[in-house]
Amino acid sequence: MEDLLNSIEQKVKPLIGLGKVADYIPALANVDPNQFGIAIYSNDGKLYHAGQAYTDFSIQSISKVFSLTLAIKHYGEDMWKRVGREPSGNPFNSLVQLEYEAGVPRNPFINAGALVISDMNQSRFASPHYAMREFIRRLADNPHLNSEHIVASSEYEFRARNASMAYLMKAFGNFENDVEDVLHSYFDNCAMRMNCVDLAKAFSFLANKGFSQLSGEQVLSARETTQVNGLLATSGLYDEAGNFAYRVGLPGKSGVGGGILAIVPNRFSVCVWSPELNKSGNSLAGMAALEALSESIGWSVFG
Ligand code: GLU
Repeated sequence: MEDLLNSIEQKVKPLIGLGKVADYIPALANVDPNQFGIAIYSNDGKLYHAGQAYTDFSIQSISKVFSLTLAIKHYGEDMWKRVGREPSGNPFNSLVQLEYEAGVPRNPFINAGALVISDMNQSRFASPHYAMREFIRRLADNPHLNSEHIVASSEYEFRARNASMAYLMKAFGNFENDVEDVLHSYFDNCAMRMNCVDLAKAFSFLANKGFSQLSGEQVLSARETTQVNGLLATSGLYDEAGNFAYRVGLPGKSGVGGGILAIVPNRFSVCVWSPELNKSGNSLAGMAALEALSESIGWSVFG
């Protein structure tokens, strides 16, 4: 497997230079674009990796999968009164659908949906970010994981769009807590720094019927796991979920830090990272690497 990963790294690295590192906050704009890493964790506990698989990066929207998991564990089916399960077909930070749909976001992975989920977790935990951080540390089996203060505070400084969504949802009655408090928790979660190995390990429960071998806990039921994977397959890649299904064919979640998580149900969890993004905000080399890997191994869930 590692020979295959090394050859994929060589194949996709020439793409670096054709994309653009996220630049909506200075802390992300300064990341060295010339980086690539990949890690695969198997259900029988084997780890395979290539490139900079141990280099930390900002997980950004991949954190939305942790938040959703925490919310499902507590709210179960009730949560779907406040957030939908349909792809949005719009950019991740779009506001337009909120007005038409009475403040109920289309899915948990666009920003509006993730903010509602953060609001749910805010109602439940005295310190929502710390609850999330402990949860992540346990799942990744890494007690050193932390949020990066400079990224979180810069996100807060440039919060206008996310704040608009949250206040609009509050106006529609779909927000329980103080908007600014929830924004802080949401940005702290997005600013978590992890590497490909941490993320592949932390999300191994999604490949393993909800059970984490690393923390020894049943994180979600087997049924809830198939449901989360279904949502990842339909809405996990911003408004490029269709293209990801076509090219890779796996449940996945991307973040503007350049990470992409992919789940091969009942077999592997995978994380690839390269900071330069395509026009939809997904890692350019990361997408190409997952496509090559999926094609070589025949991983698509659609065939
Ligand atoms: N913290 C980012 C935002 O809310 C998340 C962006 C992303 O990775 O999609 O704008």
